[in-house]
Amino acid sequence: MTGLAPLLDSHDLVAPLDQNEAELVARDLAAAGGLAVYAKSIAARDGLVYFLGKDGLEKRLCIVGKTLPEAFDGEVKECPHGLLKICPRTPANAVALRRALPFTAPIVASDRPSIGTGDRLGLATPGHVRAVRGTGLVPILAQQSMREMSRTGRSPQEVMDDATWGVFEEGYRDGFGADADHLKTTEDIGTTFGAGFRMFTVDPGEYVDNAAGTDSLAALRAKLAELPWAELETTAEATLAVFAGKSFEAGIGLDLDFSEEDILRAAVKYGRAVAHTKTLCRHLSGLAEGRPFDMEMSVDETDSPTTVHEHFYVAHELDRLGVGIAGLAPRFVGDFEKGIDYKGDLETFEASFVRHVKIAKHFGGYKISIHSGSDKFSIYPIAAKHAGPLAHVKTAGTSYLEALRTVGRVDAELFREILSFAFERYDEDKASYHVSAKPETLPRPDELKDEELASILDINDGRQLLHVTYGSVLTARDEKGEYRFRDRIYKALRENEETHYDIVAAHLRKHAAPFAATL
Ligand SMILES: [Zn+2]
Repeated sequence: MTGLAPLLDSHDLVAPLDQNEAELVARDLAAAGGLAVYAKSIAARDGLVYFLGKDGLEKRLCIVGKTLPEAFDGEVKECPHGLLKICPRTPANAVALRRALPFTAPIVASDRPSIGTGDRLGLATPGHVRAVRGTGLVPILAQQSMREMSRTGRSPQEVMDDATWGVFEEGYRDGFGADADHLKTTEDIGTTFGAGFRMFTVDPGEYVDNAAGTDSLAALRAKLAELPWAELETTAEATLAVFAGKSFEAGIGLDLDFSEEDILRAAVKYGRAVAHTKTLCRHLSGLAEGRPFDMEMSVDETDSPTTVHEHFYVAHELDRLGVGIAGLAPRFVGDFEKGIDYKGDLETFEASFVRHVKIAKHFGGYKISIHSGSDKFSIYPIAAKHAGPLAHVKTAGTSYLEALRTVGRVDAELFREILSFAFERYDEDKASYHVSAKPETLPRPDELKDEELASILDINDGRQLLHVTYGSVLTARDEKGEYRFRDRIYKALRENEETHYDIVAAHLRKHAAPFAATL
């Protein structure tokens, strides 16, 4: 097949064009529409050809055909191939595109190996796609927590739509996921469900009793009696009878013995969290009305590591309550600081990780989700070896840092200003993050030559300094109320998008490779 005409005659979604064909068609389309054409975006269906065009820094959805669909809002003009509709990238047009080209809508990926590639700026999707294409991993491209969205000033709908447009631009047809991360309330679930997310990570961390690890037995017994037993649909006595003095081998070589103390600590620590997870799951099921979704439970942002006994208790109770989970994010041993490698003893991590995986396999084979997964290079081989396709790593901050690296390459002055601002903001901004950077050990912006600036991202302390200040950087305004950096960052990245995509892809590939190697 060559040229545009055969594409317009095709009724099915044809396979992606090879590069030469795409270039030929793109030239034809560019001549017809007066726009530059993203060749990889060209897709044909039902006698229509869809592509992404570019007019300066603005990207537009374009549709060519003899008769055009009503569902899209845009300007129609005549072209040699019939009619051409040029549509702005509005939320309504994103909805219409997801219906017209289903590969631009997220899938439920619980039965496929996956990797989370959160995109704080909304520009990184083509880079993420380049990193995972052909690896067998499903990228979870729209993945932001409620906290990230409030810090970047983006809505769940924008996060969803940016992933759709990026997938369309890059012509990625192998399926991607959309994970609404760290949801704490039924309202969080409602807004993200409405925006089209299909994976929901519920965070009952506020219901975890971190004192349970050190409470006296008397205190634990008193707390056990106070758990929300009606919601848990059982009693304290029945729970003790199920676990205390029992051994769970379950054919998976777990050999897990529960003493009375073990179950007391586990139930007191996580009982309320189990009840809250059930509440959120029931709410989600009500919204979904039978449509599939994935639910992950995350307790990674709590004070003390999730022991094997605690994980077993949580999984057992969710199973008993009929709450199906696609993944669980324990709080692992060691330190998962933001934006840098794992800190801790790898043998201890491996020993506990193996047991977490065994429990996940026993209770239906859900994924073990590794949050704060950016740049944890030393544990990826361990996670890949023991969990294989059940390992799920979530990254987000690292792509923001690679976007800043791009800024450092193409606009040194802007990077220098951002870096200076980050030094001012760090002490305050680090409060809600797990980091240990000591910025005083870093070179100051005025000590670095332009070409040395981005090398600050190769130092752990520099990565953390720039990692935790993203919200301040993206929302800072000057005395006139204009953004100080945000618009300039976006402009620099849009003007240099191929450089940005390639830098992000090169870095993310290092995250994906150990897992892809096991598939
Ligand atoms: Zn997390």
